[in-house]
Parts: sequence; C-alpha cells; structure tokens
Amino acid sequence: MNTTYDVLIVGGGPAGLSTAYLCHKHGLSYLVLESGKAIFQGIANTYPEGKLVYASKPKDAPEPFMVDELRPPDKPVTVESYLQYVQHFVQHENLNVQTDVAFEDIKDERDGLTVVTSKGSFKGKKVVLSFGSNIPRELSVYGDAKMVAKNVDDPSKYIGVKTLVIGGGNTAADVIINILKAKREVNDHQPVYWAHVAETFDVNKETAQRLGEEILLGGNIRLLPGAMPRIGEVDEEGVDRLVIRINVFQQADGVDVYHGMSFPMQNVIACIGSQGPVPIFDKLSIQSIACTSGVCKIAKEGERLVLLTSDYESTRKNVYVIGGAISPSYMKISEGSIAEERHPNLIYTAINDAYHVVEAIRGKLVK
Ligand SMILES: Cc1cc2nc3c(=O)[nH]c(=O)nc-3n(C[C@H](O)[C@H](O)[C@H](O)COP(=O)(O)OP(=O)(O)OC[C@H]3O[C@@H](n4cnc5c(N)ncnc54)[C@H](O)[C@@H]3O)c2cc1C
Repeated sequence: MNTTYDVLIVGGGPAGLSTAYLCHKHGLSYLVLESGKAIFQGIANTYPEGKLVYASKPKDAPEPFMVDELRPPDKPVTVESYLQYVQHFVQHENLNVQTDVAFEDIKDERDGLTVVTSKGSFKGKKVVLSFGSNIPRELSVYGDAKMVAKNVDDPSKYIGVKTLVIGGGNTAADVIINILKAKREVNDHQPVYWAHVAETFDVNKETAQRLGEEILLGGNIRLLPGAMPRIGEVDEEGVDRLVIRINVFQQADGVDVYHGMSFPMQNVIACIGSQGPVPIFDKLSIQSIACTSGVCKIAKEGERLVLLTSDYESTRKNVYVIGGAISPSYMKISEGSIAEERHPNLIYTAINDAYHVVEAIRGKLVK
C-alpha cells in the first residue's frame, strides 16, 4: 500500500468514471474502486434489458454535459450499446479501475485518508464517494464476518458446491433458477438451500412456473422456511462462514436446543435488497440533517439529507459525495446558511457533479 493517490473514487458509474476521466486528463493520480464485476454495474443491474438511455437534462440547468465523452447520445440507444460504448472508452483511455472491490470504510491518517475495502486498503489525499443510490443491504448477524446483499453474475461459480440462497422473493427465486440450470447442464446434483426468515415464500406466478420447471427437470433444492441467519464467524482456517439457525426446540427447563447450518460465505447469496446511502454516511461520520416540516420541498419530513458544501465536500474533510448518492436532494451549505438543494438522479447530474468536484480538488491540490 505504498501509492498515495491524489483521488480515490468509490463506484464506477457515470459519476465515478467522469471523475476518473477528468483526473486522468488533468494529470491527477486516481483509482476507481468498483464493487461490481464491471464498470457501470449499477446501471447494468437496474435497467431492464433493451431500455433506451436518454440524455435527459433538467429544464433549468444552465450547463451543457461537462464530460461530452460519457454523455448518452442525443438519439437514444439501448442500455446494452451505451454500456458497450463506455467499456470501449474506458479501455481506450486506459482508465485506472479495479473491479470486484467493495468499499467498506475510511480511516484518517496523518498524511491523508485510507480507504478500507474487501480487497485491502488504499491511500488517497481526497476521496470521492460516487456509489449511487442503491447500496447493498448488510445482513444483520452477530460476529466478525459480515455479509452484504449480492446478486449472481456468474451462476457457474456455484457448480460443485452446496449453495445457500437467502431471501423469500422473486430475486432469490431467479437466482436459484439460474444456479439450478447451470448445475443441471453439467450434471451437478449438489443441492441449493433456500432460506427465508418467514414461514412462506412469496414469488409471482411466472417465476414460480420457471422454478417448478427446474425442479421437475431434476433441480435439487432444499427449502428452509423460518431459518434465521445468526452469526458471521471466521473459522480456524480463516474462512468466513455464515451460521443459520433452522429449527428451535424450546425445552421446559428453559434451555433451547436448535439445529443450525454453517456455510462458507462465498457459497452464500443474500437477496435482501438495497438501501439508500444514509447508513453509510452515519458509519463514516458524515453529517446529515433531518428534514422538519416546511424546511424541505423534495424530501419528506424526517428524511435525512447529507450536508455538503457547494463543492460537494462533506463534513468529513477531503471526502466528497456526488451523483445518485445525493439524489433527489441534499443540504447545501453556502454563505453561512443551509438549504435543501434539488439534485435530480440523472446521468447529466452525475457527470456534471464530477466536473465541479475535480475542479475544486485541482484548485486545492495545486495550492
Ligand atoms: C431503470 C432506470 C432507468 C434510468 N434511465 C435514465 C435515463 O434514461 N437517463 C438518465 O440520465 N438517467 C437515467 N436513470 C438514472 C441514472 O442511471 C442515474 O442517475 C446514474 O446512474 C447515477 O450515476 P452514479 O454514478 O451516481 O451512480 P450509479 O450509476 O448507481 O453507479 C454507482 C456505482 O457504484 C458501485 N458501488 C455501489 N456500492 C459500492 C461499494 N460499496 N463499493 C464500490 N462500488 C460500489 C455500483 O456497483 C455502481 O457501479 C435511470 C435509472 C434507473 C434506475
């Protein structure tokens, strides 16, 4: 961990990659840390197949797209071709991106900041948080090993292993269907366990039909209704494991007996949804303010909005937040007052935030 980057960028969506490109153009050292298997994973995960991408711009916005290279074309193209274009652009410009790296924390050091990730620590003078608005939820279990919601990008990773899928809805069912299919194609009979805290599963008819078909074609699935994820532990061999409780027998003497199962975390898929970024801001001690009635026009009463300067710097010095992570509004500090600022969740906004933040950072780093 010898390199100290000028800018560490968390998230490789439109905001993060625009920041990276502008750093690259202006000779600042930088690194993008993206949790997905590829850049623009947030968009790849949330847009329906074949969706057209619009170069939407808020009506009253004074500026053009400040990074033309990443702007969606005027004539809308499908999300697949926009993603392909961006991939080529990143390769062509040789932008410095690491994928499959999940951001976890920021620590203050004497000479800068350390960003802690699932793949080790990185040092930077400035940190730009551009992780969008859909943050994977953390499974609430006791213990040292943590687990966050994840989706399956490659079902073949689960061939030959006993897999646990957590969650009771369509997303979990879809994941199971994909894994069963991959296993069936190579004659793998290792089971997929499907655990849900409630006693019943809740999927739509179409998904249920597809799941039923996989089971009838030989899919080995074991249902675990009423199962409760309990402990994330690190075993003697250093492997992160998840312990789930599958049955509890309450005894008259007050001693509970229960059955549990323990899976290596890498064989567990938790389809437990996503959340807004406020819990992350809390964890990072980035201040946010709750809206009281009459103060906010966009956010509802009680919602918490992150507090930022006009350069998007948070109350944690040298940590900036941009893009979807601060949409649809945030609290802007300017000239001694604080007011809610509208911030539409658009590619335009993400790109232009990046421009302003890099300008501010350049100004500070050359001083
Ligand atoms: C269905 C849909 C359709 C849309 N259509 C349009 C449209 O046509 N035109 C338009 O302008 N806007 C559209 N939008 C909005 C637009 O996609 C967003 O405004 C934009 O993607 C925000 O960019 P971002 O970079 O801030 O966040 P994101 O695109 O969400 O990127 C954030 C990145 O950070 C990564 N990340 C998250 N957590 C971590 C972590 N812990 N560690 C490391 N990386 C992490 C994610 O994987 C992701 O790649 C649409 C949105 C949706 C949901």
